[in-house]
Order: sequence, then structure tokens, then C-alpha cells
Amino acid sequence: MFVAGNWAESHTGASFDVVNPATGERIDSVPKGDREDVRSAVDDSRTAFKKWSETPAIERSRTLFKAAEIVRANLEELARTLTIEQGKPIGEARGEIGSFANSCEYYAGLIGRERGAQTPFSTGEGFFIVTKRPIGVVGAILPWNFPVSLMGWKVAPGLAAGNTFVVKPASSTPLTDLKVAELMVKAGLPPGALNVVTGPGAVVGEELLDNPKVSKIAFTGETATGRRIMEGSAKYIKRLTLELGGSDPMIVCDDADIDLAVEGAAWGRYRNAGQSCTSVKRLFLFKSIADTFTKKLTATVKTIHVGNGLTPGTHMGPIHNQPQREKVEEMVEDAKSRDAKVLVGGERPKAKELQKGLYYEPTLLQHVDYDAMMAKEECFGPALPIFVVNDLEEAIERANDTIYGLGSSVWTKDIERAYHAAEMIEAGTTWVNSPPIARAEVPFGGFKQSGFGRELGLEGLDHYYETKSIQVLEYGKGKKWKFPI
Ligand code: NDP
Repeated sequence: MFVAGNWAESHTGASFDVVNPATGERIDSVPKGDREDVRSAVDDSRTAFKKWSETPAIERSRTLFKAAEIVRANLEELARTLTIEQGKPIGEARGEIGSFANSCEYYAGLIGRERGAQTPFSTGEGFFIVTKRPIGVVGAILPWNFPVSLMGWKVAPGLAAGNTFVVKPASSTPLTDLKVAELMVKAGLPPGALNVVTGPGAVVGEELLDNPKVSKIAFTGETATGRRIMEGSAKYIKRLTLELGGSDPMIVCDDADIDLAVEGAAWGRYRNAGQSCTSVKRLFLFKSIADTFTKKLTATVKTIHVGNGLTPGTHMGPIHNQPQREKVEEMVEDAKSRDAKVLVGGERPKAKELQKGLYYEPTLLQHVDYDAMMAKEECFGPALPIFVVNDLEEAIERANDTIYGLGSSVWTKDIERAYHAAEMIEAGTTWVNSPPIARAEVPFGGFKQSGFGRELGLEGLDHYYETKSIQVLEYGKGKKWKFPI
């Protein structure tokens, strides 16, 4: 673990292995932190908060710009580590490291450039100022699918605003986050401003919830875990940002650019082996274009090359862990048992060199029942169900028939249709003629059980501040409140 600017063991000396999902081989081991390790990191973070929160914004900004520069300078090594521990192809890993640096640069650019105003009371007795204060120590709890960019979505705005962090990475992907934290301290963060404690969610994560000195929890992960985070945060009324699961619909209208949408569907579903919160998880095609679209998408999916993320030419790596692969298999079998037709994939690849990894073929299914698991639950892997609809109203109704509301997309050349769909779909983001691409300047988050709060954009910064109102009574104008009333 990395605490107060130093590499540290757990005080118990316990550790656990990190395994490459492409080969099943052990890569490294990291300390198995316990509650005492977390308490000590939180104390260090609290000490650093006093200094960092009073550091002038311009210096916080310079430190974040420097951090981005150092991270970019180490991009190749970081990307390689990320591919080995997470499984994604090296090109995607490079993109993820770049996205971390982008987040730092975006918030480094914003901080110190905010403006406010002094406003007179409506009664004329004085004026008020609305100002912002950092919240304190933040516990950032991360998933394994985008361990680095999702750390950036939290620590970049949070540090920019003057908060300090104890990060708990997913147990299966701690290595790149640890290296990035070390680089950020090299960039000039005070020791203790960014700590990474490795260890099980049920211990390290739970201590972050139970510890009264942690003022906010920023969590990305499954909806079920999010529910537990809410419960655990209630005791001390912690501030919360929850980025949870999704089951994003993609609606392709009859006037869409079919070739563009086919590429968008493939990119949106099979990137990161389908393990993105905003992957395309349900595809709705207008009846008149369904056959053409399905043929073209089938042909495209057949060209996806599955392999080790470090092997040149690999388009899709393994699924990250065995339970996740089994869950995808269960969903595909469930759809098949309800008469779905598998157009591509539907099984583990047969190639001898892939047998030790957690691979699954990119899978495309049609005639999927609306009661199938993959229509009802989040399918967090490379399997895409196709549904055929008569018109936009039916597509929107089906799209909204889910507990989730994270991303969505509509593909059409008609601006009115696009805007109508964007207004009616119950999701935090609707992309128009685009696959799901997060951008530093655009707020991101969920409706319904996909969570609340926003990351990225100006809203992402706001979630790392307390709003402080200062009310000033002008001398000689306050006689009206003399007691007794
Ligand atoms: P999990 O919810 O299983 O784990 C996320 C993190 O929570 C891990 O660090 C885990 O630790 C920790 N954790 C587990 N139990 C507890 C607990 N009781 N208290 C505190 N922390 C705990 O999610 P996954 O890692 O499996 O990530 C995949 C999920 O994340 C998908 O559902 C996906 O949709 C969602 N996701 C959402 C995004 C969004 O922005 N909305 C973005 C990316 C993913 P450990 O690893 O040690 O178990």
C-alpha cells in the first residue's frame, strides 16, 4: 500500500496475490490491509488535509498539471501494468491512462478560475456571500473495470478542491493505482494527501464507511454494493457520490447512418470485453432496418480478434474474473433457453493458447425474450441482445423498462427525433449518433438505481465542496431582530 508518501506493508504482514486474467499467472502481491491500516491512513490524510486545503488554488493547479505530465511520461509502463492486471488490450489501457491525465488537466485548469458574487439581502439589511469549502478526507472505493480513469474522476476534482484521499482500489486491480499515486506525490502532492490502502472491500471499504474522520465516500461499483455503501454511510451522514451499474439501450431509427451505427454498436458493446458501466447492453432496431443492420453487425462482430491484451492485433481481452464469466454464460444460456438465436459466439474460444485465460467469444443474439436475464439485469460482458421495435415510442418504452438509468444512445439524422428520445429516456446521458464516450468536461452519472451525484464537468467539482454561506449584516441596519420579538 502507499500511505503518507511511502510504500508500506500491512501491520499484520498479510498479503494477497494479483493475477493476470489472460494467463491465470500471479503477477505480484500486495498488502492485505485491515481496519487498523485504514485508520492510520485516514489520520495521515486528515493531517495532510490541514495543509492541502490551505494551499493556494494556483499551487494545487500546478501540482495537478505536473501530475498529468509525469503520468503521461510513464504512460507505457502504466498501460502495460494495467493490461496485465485488468486484461484490456494495450491500446485501451493507453487510452485509460491518458484519460486519467486529462481529468487532472481539466480540473487543474478550472481551479482558481471560479468566480462568485456578493448579493444584497432582499430586505436591504446587508449582503451574503456564497463560498465553497473542501469537505475533508474522502474515501474513494474503486471497481476493477476502469481502475485508473475512475480514480481520476474522483481524485482530480477532489484534490483540486482541496480534499485529501484514502483510495481503496478493487482487490484484483490495485497495481496501476498504486503506481499512479506514487507519481502524484512525486509531482508535489503533500505526503498523506493521496493514500492507497489495498485489502478486501468487507474490511478496508467497511472501515472507510465506519470511520468518523472520513467525510465523503465516492464509490463506483455494483448497485448492490452501492446500497451497502449508503447504509454504512448513514451513521455519520457522509457525503456520497454513487456511480453504479447500467443497462444502456441503443436505439437505431430507420433513418440512421447504418454503417456508422454498426461501428458504434460494436465499439459500445465489445470495448473492454463489454465490462463498462455504459456499454451498449440492449440494442433496439427499427423493424425496417433490422435485417440489414443485423447482417452488417454480425459480419463486424466476427472480425473481433480475442486474445491477450499485450499481443498485437488483439481487439478484445479476457473477462476480468471467473464469476463474471460464469454470469455472462448463465445469461447467454438463459436467453437460448427462451429461444434466442446466437448469431456469433455464445461460448468460450477453442484456441489452445487461450485456455488458461478467462476468455469468452464476442456474442450477438437475436429474438431475445424481454423477460430474459440479459434484458432485465446488467450484462457485464461481451454479449449483446438485439430487439426489434416498430417505432420510437415503443423503443423508448422498452429502453426505460429497467431499474437502471446510466447511459443510452439514439441514432438518427432527424434532430427532432433525437431530442425527443434524449428528453424521454430515463438516463444520465444520451449520446446522439455516438457510442458511449465519457469526456472530462461533461457531467456523468445515473438516474434511478444507477446512482446519484455526478462526476466530471463542473458538477464533478461541486460534489467535492461544502457550500458555505456568509451573511453580513450592515452596521446599524439590524435593529428589527431585537429580542424579545
Ligand atoms: P463491486 O461493487 O463488487 O466492487 C467495487 C468496489 O467496492 C471494490 O473496490 C470492492 O472491493 C468494494 N467493496 C466490496 N464490498 C464492499 C463493502 N461492503 N464496503 C465497501 N466496499 C466494498 O463492483 P466491481 O468491482 O465488480 O465493478 C463492476 C460494477 O461496477 C458493475 O456493476 C458496473 O456497472 C459498475 N460500474 C459503474 C460505473 C459507473 O460509473 N456507474 C463505472 C464502472 C463500473 P473488493 O474488490 O475488495 O471486493
